[in-house]
Amino acid sequence: MRYDYVVAGAGPFGAVFAHEARRQGKSVLVVERRNHIGGNVYCENKDGITIHVYGAHIFHTSMKHVWDYVNRFTSFNHYINSPIANYKGKIYNLPFNMNTFSRMWGIRTPEEAKAIITRQRQCIKGEPKNLEEQAISLVGTDIYEQLIKGYTEKQWGRKCTELPAFIIKRLPVRYTYDNNYFDDPYQGIPVGGYTKLIERLLENVEVRLGVDYIKERDIYNGLAEKIIYTGPIDEYFEYRFGNLEYRGLHFETVRLNEENYQGVAVVNYTAGDIPYTRSIEHKHFEFGRQPVTYVTKEYPKKWQVGDEAYYPVNDDKNRALYERYAALADAEKKTVFGGRLAEYKYYDMDKVIAGALDLAKRELGSS
Ligand code: UDP
Repeated sequence: MRYDYVVAGAGPFGAVFAHEARRQGKSVLVVERRNHIGGNVYCENKDGITIHVYGAHIFHTSMKHVWDYVNRFTSFNHYINSPIANYKGKIYNLPFNMNTFSRMWGIRTPEEAKAIITRQRQCIKGEPKNLEEQAISLVGTDIYEQLIKGYTEKQWGRKCTELPAFIIKRLPVRYTYDNNYFDDPYQGIPVGGYTKLIERLLENVEVRLGVDYIKERDIYNGLAEKIIYTGPIDEYFEYRFGNLEYRGLHFETVRLNEENYQGVAVVNYTAGDIPYTRSIEHKHFEFGRQPVTYVTKEYPKKWQVGDEAYYPVNDDKNRALYERYAALADAEKKTVFGGRLAEYKYYDMDKVIAGALDLAKRELGSS
């Protein structure tokens, strides 16, 4: 065998595992079907502005070891995500906090906000059964109707009554005037973009781009003792039980001859009749002052096999299907499955990195 490991996929999971394996003296080959490394955190530089090509990625974590790890490879700036919501032209701060409540109801104190929300949530009895009930029980009906319903139904292409409650639990609800979208103590954007981080991780690793492991698996299985597979788990097993579903995205990016288009990196358009969910002005992730700007509108779309897979559809049907594939994966001796697509999970980047480091520990022992 020529390599100890072939890693299929050069996204964060594959890059971290490959780095750790190399560091411990293993021979590693990374194959990637796209023509670039980085997976969905891949960035391009245009006019001095870092563009998040597959959607905005903001790094945030509570795991100190993950934060320390990524900071070994690149420096992170002090960006704090404070997106705003635009509902029919009116602007609200996110996540849901005293600034939002004050603007919505003309109130000033946490007590006043709590009184309104308590009154509005009375229509929900017992444990919330779906996203709609969960949202109303967290923030009441006004915020649900104006800032959640339209956005969520566009993003997922399904009614809030048919979506799992946990999706909305990602968002903090705060009775303080604090617009930081994340609760995590560590947050930032890698200076110059995520591609640099991935490049550093892969510095001493052999990488072949434009190679589809699935199409050429006989060749690559013959090259290594073990395969680390980070692609879609259903594709690996040739969709034998049917395909797992995802929500797709379509991005439209324009270059504008102005310095500052929207004054903030992320604007959520929360009304149901606007076809995009977000508008991203990339330069604000790095406090850019260039005379031009790039703005990307993010349109959710129906997904089909072959499209880029963005959000796993975590309903009962898909979870049950995933379990069937996971049982097959467990039985594979030569291949280990890891990352967002192979585990069919709505993962943040820090969880992906933590997962790759855990796998490295299991596979390679600690060092
Ligand atoms: N959400 C919402 N209104 C917003 C922003 C988010 O209702 O303005 C809800 C929506 O249900 C969404 C979930 O919160 O699916 C998670 O949003 P997040 O911004 O974490 O999604 P991601 O950044 O992963 O696309």
